[in-house]
Amino acid sequence: MSDPNELTVLNPATEEIVATVPAASEEDVAAAVVRAVRAQRTWAAVAPADRARLLRRFADVVDAHAEELARLEVREAGHTLGNARWEAGNARDLLLYAAGGAERLLGRQIPAPGGWDVTFHEPLGVVGVIAPWNFPMPIAAWGSFPALAAGNAVVLKPAEATPLTALRLAALALEAGLPEHLFQVLPGYGTTAGRALVDHPDVAKIVFTGSTRTGREVMERCARLVKPVTLELGGKSPNVVFADADLTAALDPFSFLDNCGQDCCARTRVLVQESVLDEARDVLADALAAVVVGDPADEKTRVGPLISARQRERVRSYVPDDAPALRGSAPDGPGFWFPPTVLTAERPDSRAAREEIFGPVAVLLPFTDEQDAVRLANDTPYGLSGSVWTKDLGRALRVSQAVRAGNLSVNSHSSVRYWTPFGGFKQSGLGRELGPDALTAFTETKNVFISTEGPAQ
Ligand code: NDP
Repeated sequence: MSDPNELTVLNPATEEIVATVPAASEEDVAAAVVRAVRAQRTWAAVAPADRARLLRRFADVVDAHAEELARLEVREAGHTLGNARWEAGNARDLLLYAAGGAERLLGRQIPAPGGWDVTFHEPLGVVGVIAPWNFPMPIAAWGSFPALAAGNAVVLKPAEATPLTALRLAALALEAGLPEHLFQVLPGYGTTAGRALVDHPDVAKIVFTGSTRTGREVMERCARLVKPVTLELGGKSPNVVFADADLTAALDPFSFLDNCGQDCCARTRVLVQESVLDEARDVLADALAAVVVGDPADEKTRVGPLISARQRERVRSYVPDDAPALRGSAPDGPGFWFPPTVLTAERPDSRAAREEIFGPVAVLLPFTDEQDAVRLANDTPYGLSGSVWTKDLGRALRVSQAVRAGNLSVNSHSSVRYWTPFGGFKQSGLGRELGPDALTAFTETKNVFISTEGPAQ
Protein backbone atom coordinates (compact mmCIF):
# COMPACT_ATOMS: atom_id res chain seq x y z
CA MET A 1 0.00 0.00 0.00
CA SER A 2 1.55 3.30 -1.03
CA ASP A 3 1.90 6.15 1.47
CA PRO A 4 -0.59 8.90 0.55
CA ASN A 5 1.83 11.57 1.78
CA GLU A 6 4.98 10.40 0.06
CA LEU A 7 6.25 9.09 -3.28
CA THR A 8 9.05 6.54 -3.42
CA VAL A 9 11.15 6.74 -6.56
CA LEU A 10 12.83 3.45 -7.51
CA ASN A 11 15.69 2.91 -9.92
CA PRO A 12 14.08 0.48 -12.40
CA ALA A 13 17.46 -1.11 -13.21
CA THR A 14 18.32 -1.97 -9.60
CA GLU A 15 15.04 -1.65 -7.62
CA GLU A 16 16.95 0.59 -5.16
CA ILE A 17 15.30 3.70 -3.72
CA VAL A 18 16.56 6.82 -5.49
CA ALA A 19 14.54 9.34 -3.44
CA THR A 20 11.36 9.92 -1.49
CA VAL A 21 9.37 13.02 -2.27
CA PRO A 22 6.37 14.56 -0.47
CA ALA A 23 3.11 13.93 -2.31
CA ALA A 24 0.91 16.99 -2.92
CA SER A 25 -2.57 16.95 -1.40
CA GLU A 26 -5.69 18.60 -2.83
CA GLU A 27 -5.00 21.57 -0.52
CA ASP A 28 -1.43 21.86 -1.85
CA VAL A 29 -2.79 22.00 -5.40
CA ALA A 30 -5.32 24.69 -4.47
CA ALA A 31 -2.59 26.79 -2.81
CA ALA A 32 -0.29 26.37 -5.82
CA VAL A 33 -3.04 27.56 -8.16
CA VAL A 34 -3.59 30.71 -6.07
CA ARG A 35 0.15 31.48 -6.31
CA ALA A 36 0.14 30.70 -10.04
CA VAL A 37 -2.77 33.08 -10.71
CA ARG A 38 -0.77 35.92 -9.17
CA ALA A 39 2.46 35.01 -10.96
CA GLN A 40 0.67 34.81 -14.30
CA ARG A 41 -0.68 38.36 -14.04
CA THR A 42 2.84 39.72 -13.62
CA TRP A 43 4.25 37.47 -16.37
CA ALA A 44 1.60 38.44 -18.93
CA ALA A 45 2.53 42.10 -18.40
CA VAL A 46 6.22 41.44 -19.21
CA ALA A 47 7.09 42.56 -22.76
CA PRO A 48 7.31 39.60 -25.17
CA ALA A 49 10.98 40.30 -25.94
CA ASP A 50 11.80 40.16 -22.21
CA ARG A 51 9.79 36.95 -21.75
CA ALA A 52 11.78 35.50 -24.65
CA ARG A 53 15.06 36.64 -23.11
CA LEU A 54 14.22 34.94 -19.80
CA LEU A 55 13.23 31.71 -21.52
CA ARG A 56 16.50 31.73 -23.49
CA ARG A 57 18.34 32.17 -20.21
CA PHE A 58 16.38 29.18 -18.85
CA ALA A 59 17.54 27.21 -21.93
CA ASP A 60 21.17 28.15 -21.16
CA VAL A 61 20.79 26.92 -17.57
CA VAL A 62 19.21 23.65 -18.77
CA ASP A 63 22.11 23.26 -21.20
CA ALA A 64 24.63 23.80 -18.42
CA HIS A 65 22.89 21.03 -16.42
CA ALA A 66 22.06 18.71 -19.34
CA GLU A 67 24.35 15.90 -18.21
CA GLU A 68 23.01 16.07 -14.64
CA LEU A 69 19.41 15.99 -15.91
CA ALA A 70 20.21 13.07 -18.22
CA ARG A 71 21.79 11.04 -15.43
CA LEU A 72 18.79 11.75 -13.20
CA GLU A 73 16.47 10.48 -15.96
CA VAL A 74 18.59 7.30 -16.18
CA ARG A 75 18.18 6.72 -12.45
CA GLU A 76 14.51 7.49 -12.04
CA ALA A 77 13.15 6.15 -15.36
CA GLY A 78 15.72 3.55 -16.47
CA HIS A 79 16.30 5.38 -19.75
CA THR A 80 19.51 4.66 -21.58
CA LEU A 81 22.11 7.39 -21.19
CA GLY A 82 22.04 8.14 -24.93
CA ASN A 83 18.27 8.63 -24.90
CA ALA A 84 18.36 10.66 -21.70
CA ARG A 85 20.98 13.02 -23.16
CA TRP A 86 18.73 13.52 -26.18
CA GLU A 87 15.81 14.24 -23.82
CA ALA A 88 17.67 16.95 -21.89
CA GLY A 89 18.71 18.49 -25.22
CA ASN A 90 15.11 18.33 -26.41
CA ALA A 91 13.93 20.30 -23.35
CA ARG A 92 16.62 22.94 -24.00
CA ASP A 93 15.86 23.19 -27.74
CA LEU A 94 12.12 23.48 -27.17
CA LEU A 95 12.75 26.36 -24.77
CA LEU A 96 14.72 28.19 -27.46
CA TYR A 97 12.05 27.48 -30.09
CA ALA A 98 9.18 28.54 -27.82
CA ALA A 99 11.08 31.68 -26.75
CA GLY A 100 11.08 32.82 -30.38
CA GLY A 101 7.33 32.28 -30.46
CA ALA A 102 6.71 34.79 -27.65
CA GLU A 103 7.65 37.60 -30.06
CA ARG A 104 5.74 36.10 -32.99
CA LEU A 105 2.34 35.51 -31.41
CA LEU A 106 0.70 37.50 -34.17
CA GLY A 107 -2.94 38.47 -34.49
CA ARG A 108 -4.66 39.37 -37.76
CA GLN A 109 -6.21 42.45 -39.30
CA ILE A 110 -9.51 41.59 -40.96
CA PRO A 111 -11.23 44.00 -43.38
CA ALA A 112 -14.48 45.33 -41.89
CA PRO A 113 -16.56 48.32 -43.05
CA GLY A 114 -16.56 51.38 -40.81
CA GLY A 115 -13.43 50.53 -38.89
CA TRP A 116 -10.49 48.24 -38.20
CA ASP A 117 -10.85 44.71 -37.00
CA VAL A 118 -7.94 43.05 -35.23
CA THR A 119 -7.40 39.79 -33.38
CA PHE A 120 -5.20 39.11 -30.37
CA HIS A 121 -3.90 35.86 -28.88
CA GLU A 122 -4.28 36.31 -25.15
CA PRO A 123 -2.85 33.87 -22.60
CA LEU A 124 -5.33 31.51 -20.95
CA GLY A 125 -4.08 32.05 -17.39
CA VAL A 126 -2.97 28.99 -15.41
CA VAL A 127 -2.33 25.79 -17.39
CA GLY A 128 -2.30 22.39 -15.68
CA VAL A 129 0.04 19.79 -17.17
CA ILE A 130 -0.24 16.10 -16.20
CA ALA A 131 2.73 14.04 -17.39
CA PRO A 132 3.34 10.27 -17.57
CA TRP A 133 6.42 8.29 -16.60
CA ASN A 134 7.54 7.12 -20.04
CA PHE A 135 9.25 10.38 -21.15
CA PRO A 136 9.19 12.46 -17.95
CA MET A 137 11.39 15.32 -19.12
CA PRO A 138 10.31 15.87 -22.75
CA ILE A 139 6.60 15.55 -22.03
CA ALA A 140 6.85 17.96 -19.08
CA ALA A 141 8.61 20.36 -21.45
CA TRP A 142 6.17 19.98 -24.38
CA GLY A 143 3.18 20.84 -22.21
CA SER A 144 4.83 23.58 -20.17
CA PHE A 145 7.33 25.62 -22.22
CA PRO A 146 5.07 26.80 -25.07
CA ALA A 147 2.43 27.65 -22.44
CA LEU A 148 4.96 29.80 -20.54
CA ALA A 149 6.12 31.48 -23.75
CA ALA A 150 2.51 32.40 -24.55
CA GLY A 151 2.21 34.23 -21.20
CA ASN A 152 0.67 31.56 -18.99
CA ALA A 153 1.68 30.13 -15.61
CA VAL A 154 2.05 26.35 -15.35
CA VAL A 155 1.33 23.86 -12.58
CA LEU A 156 2.80 20.50 -13.57
CA LYS A 157 1.98 17.15 -11.96
CA PRO A 158 4.57 14.56 -12.97
CA ALA A 159 3.89 10.82 -12.74
CA GLU A 160 4.29 9.38 -9.26
CA ALA A 161 7.15 7.12 -10.45
CA THR A 162 9.21 9.91 -12.06
CA PRO A 163 8.99 13.33 -10.36
CA LEU A 164 12.72 14.13 -10.13
CA THR A 165 13.68 15.64 -13.49
CA ALA A 166 10.55 17.81 -13.50
CA LEU A 167 11.40 19.10 -10.00
CA ARG A 168 14.91 19.86 -11.18
CA LEU A 169 13.61 21.76 -14.23
CA ALA A 170 11.46 23.93 -11.94
CA ALA A 171 14.51 24.70 -9.76
CA LEU A 172 16.56 25.57 -12.86
CA ALA A 173 13.79 27.94 -14.03
CA LEU A 174 14.16 29.88 -10.78
CA GLU A 175 17.94 29.87 -11.12
CA ALA A 176 17.52 31.37 -14.61
CA GLY A 177 15.43 34.20 -13.18
CA LEU A 178 11.89 33.16 -14.11
CA PRO A 179 9.42 34.66 -11.60
CA GLU A 180 8.63 32.62 -8.51
CA HIS A 181 5.53 30.40 -8.78
CA LEU A 182 5.32 30.80 -12.56
CA PHE A 183 6.40 27.19 -13.22
CA GLN A 184 5.47 25.00 -10.25
CA VAL A 185 5.97 21.24 -10.12
CA LEU A 186 3.74 19.32 -7.70
CA PRO A 187 4.58 15.63 -7.44
CA GLY A 188 1.60 13.61 -6.29
CA TYR A 189 -0.86 10.87 -7.06
CA GLY A 190 -3.11 11.07 -10.09
CA THR A 191 -6.27 10.38 -8.14
CA THR A 192 -5.57 13.20 -5.65
CA ALA A 193 -3.24 15.88 -7.05
CA GLY A 194 -4.08 15.08 -10.69
CA ARG A 195 -7.83 15.22 -10.15
CA ALA A 196 -7.54 18.38 -8.03
CA LEU A 197 -5.74 20.13 -10.87
CA VAL A 198 -8.32 18.99 -13.42
CA ASP A 199 -11.23 20.07 -11.21
CA HIS A 200 -9.83 23.44 -10.15
CA PRO A 201 -11.94 26.27 -11.60
CA ASP A 202 -8.92 28.61 -11.89
CA VAL A 203 -6.95 26.17 -14.05
CA ALA A 204 -7.89 27.32 -17.54
CA LYS A 205 -6.64 24.32 -19.54
CA ILE A 206 -5.36 20.79 -18.97
CA VAL A 207 -2.65 19.14 -21.05
CA PHE A 208 -2.73 15.43 -20.32
CA THR A 209 -0.44 12.69 -21.61
CA GLY A 210 -1.03 9.09 -20.59
CA SER A 211 -3.41 6.21 -21.07
CA THR A 212 -6.62 6.52 -23.06
CA ARG A 213 -8.58 5.32 -20.02
CA THR A 214 -7.36 8.13 -17.74
CA GLY A 215 -7.51 10.63 -20.62
CA ARG A 216 -11.20 9.87 -21.06
CA GLU A 217 -11.82 10.58 -17.36
CA VAL A 218 -9.83 13.83 -17.55
CA MET A 219 -11.89 14.94 -20.55
CA GLU A 220 -15.17 14.11 -18.79
CA ARG A 221 -14.16 16.13 -15.74
CA CYS A 222 -12.98 19.05 -17.89
CA ALA A 223 -16.34 18.97 -19.71
CA ARG A 224 -18.15 19.84 -16.45
CA LEU A 225 -16.27 23.17 -16.41
CA VAL A 226 -16.14 23.52 -20.22
CA LYS A 227 -12.36 23.50 -19.78
CA PRO A 228 -10.24 23.00 -22.90
CA VAL A 229 -8.01 19.95 -22.92
CA THR A 230 -5.17 18.59 -25.01
CA LEU A 231 -4.89 14.81 -24.84
CA GLU A 232 -1.89 12.77 -25.97
CA LEU A 233 -2.96 9.18 -25.40
CA GLY A 234 -2.09 5.66 -26.40
CA GLY A 235 -1.06 4.10 -29.68
CA LYS A 236 -0.81 0.79 -31.50
CA SER A 237 1.03 2.05 -34.50
CA PRO A 238 1.55 0.11 -37.74
CA ASN A 239 4.85 -0.39 -39.54
CA VAL A 240 3.68 -1.15 -43.10
CA VAL A 241 6.43 -2.99 -44.99
CA PHE A 242 5.89 -3.68 -48.70
CA ALA A 243 7.85 -6.39 -50.53
CA ASP A 244 10.00 -3.86 -52.41
CA ALA A 245 11.25 -2.18 -49.20
CA ASP A 246 14.75 -2.27 -47.78
CA LEU A 247 13.85 -4.94 -45.22
CA THR A 248 16.79 -4.37 -42.89
CA ALA A 249 15.98 -0.68 -42.51
CA ALA A 250 12.21 -1.23 -42.40
CA LEU A 251 12.47 -3.92 -39.73
CA ASP A 252 14.85 -2.00 -37.47
CA PRO A 253 13.76 -3.38 -34.07
CA PHE A 254 14.25 0.04 -32.48
CA SER A 255 11.04 1.06 -34.22
CA PHE A 256 9.35 -0.67 -31.27
CA LEU A 257 12.19 -1.21 -28.76
CA ASP A 258 13.22 2.36 -28.14
CA ASN A 259 12.66 3.22 -24.46
CA CYS A 260 12.00 -0.51 -23.92
CA GLY A 261 8.78 -0.12 -25.95
CA GLN A 262 7.33 2.38 -23.47
CA ASP A 263 6.66 4.81 -26.26
CA CYS A 264 3.23 5.84 -27.49
CA CYS A 265 4.66 6.02 -31.05
CA ALA A 266 6.21 2.50 -30.97
CA ARG A 267 5.48 0.65 -34.22
CA THR A 268 4.21 -2.46 -32.48
CA ARG A 269 2.12 -3.84 -35.34
CA VAL A 270 4.64 -5.01 -37.92
CA LEU A 271 2.59 -5.46 -41.10
CA VAL A 272 4.60 -7.31 -43.76
CA GLN A 273 3.58 -8.20 -47.33
CA GLU A 274 3.16 -11.97 -47.30
CA SER A 275 5.52 -12.61 -50.24
CA VAL A 276 8.48 -11.53 -48.00
CA LEU A 277 7.13 -12.78 -44.67
CA ASP A 278 9.73 -15.56 -44.22
CA GLU A 279 12.58 -13.23 -45.11
CA ALA A 280 11.18 -10.62 -42.71
CA ARG A 281 11.04 -13.17 -39.92
CA ASP A 282 14.72 -14.00 -40.47
CA VAL A 283 15.72 -10.34 -40.51
CA LEU A 284 13.83 -9.72 -37.26
CA ALA A 285 15.25 -12.83 -35.57
CA ASP A 286 18.83 -11.74 -36.37
CA ALA A 287 18.14 -8.18 -35.28
CA LEU A 288 16.60 -9.24 -31.94
CA ALA A 289 19.52 -11.56 -31.23
CA ALA A 290 21.88 -8.58 -31.61
CA VAL A 291 20.03 -6.30 -29.19
CA VAL A 292 21.74 -5.90 -25.82
CA VAL A 293 19.37 -5.20 -22.94
CA GLY A 294 21.20 -4.04 -19.85
CA ASP A 295 22.47 -1.33 -17.54
CA PRO A 296 21.01 1.92 -18.90
CA ALA A 297 23.87 3.95 -17.41
CA ASP A 298 26.33 2.13 -19.70
CA GLU A 299 26.91 4.29 -22.81
CA LYS A 300 26.72 1.22 -25.09
CA THR A 301 23.30 0.03 -23.88
CA ARG A 302 20.36 0.71 -26.17
CA VAL A 303 17.53 -0.98 -24.22
CA GLY A 304 17.06 -0.65 -20.47
CA PRO A 305 14.44 -1.98 -18.04
CA LEU A 306 10.70 -1.40 -17.83
CA ILE A 307 9.57 1.26 -15.37
CA SER A 308 8.13 -0.98 -12.62
CA ALA A 309 7.22 -4.46 -11.45
CA ARG A 310 3.59 -3.61 -12.22
CA GLN A 311 4.42 -2.70 -15.80
CA ARG A 312 6.45 -5.90 -16.21
CA GLU A 313 3.47 -7.97 -15.02
CA ARG A 314 1.26 -6.14 -17.48
CA VAL A 315 3.65 -6.79 -20.38
CA ARG A 316 4.08 -10.43 -19.36
CA SER A 317 0.32 -10.96 -19.48
CA TYR A 318 0.48 -10.50 -23.29
CA VAL A 319 3.31 -13.02 -23.78
CA PRO A 320 2.49 -16.56 -22.57
CA ASP A 321 5.60 -18.76 -22.30
CA ASP A 322 4.35 -21.04 -25.08
CA ALA A 323 3.37 -18.25 -27.52
CA PRO A 324 5.10 -18.62 -30.92
CA ALA A 325 7.59 -15.77 -30.91
CA LEU A 326 11.05 -14.48 -31.77
CA ARG A 327 12.76 -13.68 -28.50
CA GLY A 328 15.87 -11.76 -27.50
CA SER A 329 17.47 -11.89 -24.08
CA ALA A 330 17.39 -9.78 -20.92
CA PRO A 331 19.34 -9.78 -17.64
CA ASP A 332 18.27 -11.79 -14.59
CA GLY A 333 18.32 -10.46 -11.05
CA PRO A 334 17.16 -7.12 -9.68
CA GLY A 335 15.57 -4.72 -12.16
CA PHE A 336 12.38 -4.80 -14.18
CA TRP A 337 13.75 -6.61 -17.26
CA PHE A 338 11.85 -8.05 -20.19
CA PRO A 339 13.33 -9.59 -23.35
CA PRO A 340 12.57 -8.05 -26.76
CA THR A 341 9.82 -10.17 -28.32
CA VAL A 342 7.99 -10.42 -31.63
CA LEU A 343 4.83 -12.52 -31.48
CA THR A 344 4.55 -14.34 -34.80
CA ALA A 345 1.20 -16.14 -34.74
CA GLU A 346 -1.27 -13.56 -33.44
CA ARG A 347 -4.59 -12.94 -35.12
CA PRO A 348 -5.29 -9.27 -35.95
CA ASP A 349 -8.13 -9.32 -33.40
CA SER A 350 -6.10 -10.85 -30.53
CA ARG A 351 -5.50 -8.88 -27.34
CA ALA A 352 -1.77 -8.54 -28.08
CA ALA A 353 -2.49 -7.25 -31.59
CA ARG A 354 -5.06 -4.68 -30.47
CA GLU A 355 -4.06 -3.32 -27.05
CA GLU A 356 -1.21 -0.98 -26.18
CA ILE A 357 1.29 -3.24 -24.38
CA PHE A 358 3.88 -0.56 -23.56
CA GLY A 359 6.79 -2.95 -23.45
CA PRO A 360 9.36 -4.41 -25.88
CA VAL A 361 6.76 -6.54 -27.66
CA ALA A 362 5.51 -6.35 -31.26
CA VAL A 363 3.22 -8.55 -33.34
CA LEU A 364 4.03 -9.67 -36.88
CA LEU A 365 1.01 -9.73 -39.20
CA PRO A 366 0.94 -10.50 -42.95
CA PHE A 367 -1.01 -8.57 -45.59
CA THR A 368 -1.73 -9.37 -49.22
CA ASP A 369 -1.79 -6.08 -51.15
CA GLU A 370 -2.01 -2.30 -50.72
CA GLN A 371 -5.73 -2.31 -49.94
CA ASP A 372 -5.29 -5.04 -47.33
CA ALA A 373 -2.35 -3.15 -45.80
CA VAL A 374 -4.41 0.03 -45.39
CA ARG A 375 -7.36 -1.92 -43.96
CA LEU A 376 -5.13 -3.60 -41.35
CA ALA A 377 -3.25 -0.38 -40.54
CA ASN A 378 -6.56 1.37 -39.80
CA ASP A 379 -8.09 -1.57 -37.93
CA THR A 380 -7.47 -0.02 -34.49
CA PRO A 381 -9.14 2.52 -32.24
CA TYR A 382 -5.78 4.35 -32.11
CA GLY A 383 -4.21 6.71 -34.66
CA LEU A 384 -1.00 8.18 -33.32
CA SER A 385 1.82 7.28 -35.62
CA GLY A 386 3.16 4.77 -38.14
CA SER A 387 5.65 4.05 -40.93
CA VAL A 388 5.29 3.08 -44.59
CA TRP A 389 8.17 1.35 -46.36
CA THR A 390 8.23 1.05 -50.16
CA LYS A 391 10.32 2.29 -53.09
CA ASP A 392 7.13 3.08 -55.06
CA LEU A 393 6.55 6.82 -54.52
CA GLY A 394 2.93 6.77 -55.67
CA ARG A 395 2.12 3.96 -53.25
CA ALA A 396 3.94 5.73 -50.41
CA LEU A 397 1.79 8.82 -50.96
CA ARG A 398 -1.48 6.87 -51.35
CA VAL A 399 -0.89 4.83 -48.21
CA SER A 400 0.20 7.80 -46.10
CA GLN A 401 -2.96 9.62 -47.16
CA ALA A 402 -5.14 6.61 -46.37
CA VAL A 403 -3.74 5.73 -42.93
CA ARG A 404 -5.62 7.63 -40.23
CA ALA A 405 -2.85 8.70 -37.87
CA GLY A 406 -1.34 12.02 -36.80
CA ASN A 407 2.35 11.28 -37.37
CA LEU A 408 3.49 9.16 -40.28
CA SER A 409 6.91 8.61 -41.75
CA VAL A 410 7.77 7.18 -45.15
CA ASN A 411 10.95 5.10 -45.38
CA SER A 412 11.83 6.29 -41.89
CA HIS A 413 10.78 5.58 -38.31
CA SER A 414 11.04 9.13 -37.02
CA SER A 415 8.08 10.65 -35.17
CA VAL A 416 8.76 13.64 -33.01
CA ARG A 417 10.51 16.92 -33.78
CA TYR A 418 9.88 19.95 -31.58
CA TRP A 419 9.27 22.11 -34.67
CA THR A 420 6.58 19.89 -36.27
CA PRO A 421 3.09 19.20 -34.89
CA PHE A 422 2.53 16.07 -32.82
CA GLY A 423 -0.73 14.39 -31.80
CA GLY A 424 -3.20 11.66 -32.55
CA PHE A 425 -6.30 10.83 -34.57
CA LYS A 426 -9.17 8.77 -33.10
CA GLN A 427 -8.64 7.58 -29.50
CA SER A 428 -4.97 8.58 -29.56
CA GLY A 429 -5.85 12.09 -28.56
CA LEU A 430 -7.19 15.54 -29.11
CA GLY A 431 -5.31 18.64 -30.20
CA ARG A 432 -1.66 19.01 -31.13
CA GLU A 433 1.54 19.86 -29.31
CA LEU A 434 4.84 21.25 -30.63
CA GLY A 435 5.31 22.73 -34.09
CA PRO A 436 4.67 26.27 -35.31
CA ASP A 437 1.22 26.50 -33.65
CA ALA A 438 2.30 25.24 -30.23
CA LEU A 439 1.85 28.61 -28.51
CA THR A 440 -1.55 29.32 -30.05
CA ALA A 441 -2.94 26.25 -28.26
CA PHE A 442 -2.34 28.16 -25.00
CA THR A 443 -4.24 31.29 -25.98
CA GLU A 444 -7.75 32.58 -26.47
CA THR A 445 -8.40 34.55 -29.64
CA LYS A 446 -9.92 37.93 -28.97
CA ASN A 447 -11.50 39.94 -31.79
CA VAL A 448 -11.68 43.74 -31.39
CA PHE A 449 -13.51 46.06 -33.80
CA ILE A 450 -12.45 49.72 -33.66
CA SER A 451 -14.84 52.16 -35.31
CA THR A 452 -13.21 54.83 -37.46
CA GLU A 453 -16.43 56.80 -37.60
CA GLY A 454 -16.31 58.18 -34.08
CA PRO A 455 -18.79 57.75 -31.28
CA ALA A 456 -22.46 57.86 -32.27
CA GLN A 457 -23.87 61.43 -31.86
P1 NDP B 1 -2.06 6.99 -16.53
O1 NDP B 1 -2.71 7.49 -17.76
O2 NDP B 1 -2.96 6.55 -15.44
O3 NDP B 1 -1.09 8.14 -15.92
C1 NDP B 1 -0.65 9.28 -16.60
C2 NDP B 1 -0.62 10.48 -15.65
O4 NDP B 1 -1.96 10.76 -15.20
C3 NDP B 1 0.17 10.25 -14.35
O5 NDP B 1 0.75 11.47 -13.93
C4 NDP B 1 -0.91 9.81 -13.39
O6 NDP B 1 -0.57 9.95 -12.03
C5 NDP B 1 -2.04 10.75 -13.77
N1 NDP B 1 -3.37 10.29 -13.38
C6 NDP B 1 -3.77 9.03 -13.08
N2 NDP B 1 -5.09 9.01 -12.78
C7 NDP B 1 -5.52 10.30 -12.90
C8 NDP B 1 -6.78 10.93 -12.72
N3 NDP B 1 -7.85 10.23 -12.37
N4 NDP B 1 -6.89 12.25 -12.92
C9 NDP B 1 -5.81 12.99 -13.29
N5 NDP B 1 -4.57 12.44 -13.46
C10 NDP B 1 -4.43 11.11 -13.29
O7 NDP B 1 -1.04 5.86 -16.95
P2 NDP B 1 -0.36 4.69 -16.07
O8 NDP B 1 0.87 5.23 -15.46
O9 NDP B 1 -1.36 4.09 -15.12
O10 NDP B 1 0.03 3.62 -17.20
C11 NDP B 1 -0.89 2.63 -17.60
C12 NDP B 1 -0.81 2.40 -19.08
O11 NDP B 1 -1.11 3.59 -19.78
C13 NDP B 1 0.55 1.99 -19.63
O12 NDP B 1 0.79 0.66 -19.50
C14 NDP B 1 0.45 2.43 -21.08
O13 NDP B 1 -0.20 1.46 -21.84
C15 NDP B 1 -0.41 3.66 -21.00
N6 NDP B 1 0.40 4.89 -21.02
C16 NDP B 1 0.49 5.57 -22.16
C17 NDP B 1 1.26 6.70 -22.25
C18 NDP B 1 1.39 7.43 -23.51
O14 NDP B 1 2.25 8.31 -23.65
N7 NDP B 1 0.56 7.16 -24.48
C19 NDP B 1 2.04 7.19 -21.11
C20 NDP B 1 1.86 6.42 -19.91
C21 NDP B 1 1.06 5.32 -19.89
P3 NDP B 1 0.07 8.65 -11.27
O15 NDP B 1 1.45 8.53 -11.79
O16 NDP B 1 0.00 8.98 -9.84
O17 NDP B 1 -0.80 7.48 -11.62
